[in-house]
Amino acid sequence: MRLEVETPDVLVDVTHLSFDRIDESDDGGLRIGAGVRNSDLAADRRVRTRYPALAEALLAGASGQLRNLATTGGNLLQRTRCAYFQDVTKPCNKRDPGSGCPAREGEHRNLAVIGHSQHCVATHPSDLAVALAAFDAIVRVVGPAGEREIPLVDFHRLPGDTPQHDTVLERDELIVAVDLPALAVAANSRYRKVRERASFSFALVSVAAALDVAEGEIRDVRIAFGGLAHKPWRAYEAEEVLRGSAADAAAFTRAADAELKQAEPLRDNGYKVELARNTLVRTLLELAG
Ligand SMILES: Cc1cc2nc3c(=O)[nH]c(=O)nc-3n(C[C@H](O)[C@H](O)[C@H](O)COP(=O)(O)OP(=O)(O)OC[C@H]3O[C@@H](n4cnc5c(N)ncnc54)[C@H](O)[C@@H]3O)c2cc1C
Ligand code: SF4
Repeated sequence: MRLEVETPDVLVDVTHLSFDRIDESDDGGLRIGAGVRNSDLAADRRVRTRYPALAEALLAGASGQLRNLATTGGNLLQRTRCAYFQDVTKPCNKRDPGSGCPAREGEHRNLAVIGHSQHCVATHPSDLAVALAAFDAIVRVVGPAGEREIPLVDFHRLPGDTPQHDTVLERDELIVAVDLPALAVAANSRYRKVRERASFSFALVSVAAALDVAEGEIRDVRIAFGGLAHKPWRAYEAEEVLRGSAADAAAFTRAADAELKQAEPLRDNGYKVELARNTLVRTLLELAG
């Protein structure tokens, strides 16, 4: 709003609504209220022990002051950091549909390599969303028609020809909570974020990964990338390659290549593909011990 990207006539303050709790759910998972602050979520003992990559993702985002204010719902709905989107003197299909996408031929070093379209090549900036995508989280929303549940992997959209819509949330819907299912593999998880400086910077590439290895064989695995696409990118192809395979560098590299073969880098961001491969392999090697 300060940049005048949004100029609403009316603002509704939802911060006083009573959805600021983290509760145990019946299935052994956690229900995170949409108003839970990023700092409180990262500090929660249950999150740190049962879903450590989630705490790491939160602590890799923004700054201490921002995390003290940022909420679970708000963080998922933050908009892209594409420089053209934030500059109201420039055309941008996301801000002004039909006006064009100058980033495709212009400055796109930090933008998408997977799932982009002619109309938009932006990335989604949330770190929290990447860890939630890896852990099969569900977004609970309420609207005039009642409640509905949206898997986090389906909550954010690819741009297609309507990049103005970041998510499938309808205009009159409110996020009330995010459900984390009980997930044993998540206890051995990590979030690794590569950025241009050590703090207060968005991901060039990030990886949330969880691994369960028994007698050298992978029993379960979860992987999601950040910084590559218009949405958190769940790496289903890589997971498929890894289930039942050896837990070694060769398998991790094969898995990364299987996922990243769909990448279509732009003129200046091909480095992200190699960065994503190396970041995933290194994260999985750490998790494999
Ligand atoms: C300088 C800077 C650096 C940052 N770095 C990072 C980073 O590295 N990684 C990262 O992940 N994030 C980063 N952030 C984002 C930050 O952590 C906040 O999450 C983000 O700014 C959104 O703020 P908020 O959570 O207070 O949401 P708000 O600004 O209050 O809301 C954002 C949007 O969500 C809507 N909204 C909020 N709650 C709900 C709800 N319950 N239901 C429906 N709609 C809702 C609002 O209407 C608004 O449109 C950064 C932010 C800044 C300013
Ligand atoms: S990449 Fe998307 S957000 Fe950036 S200028 Fe193009 S349309 Fe706008």
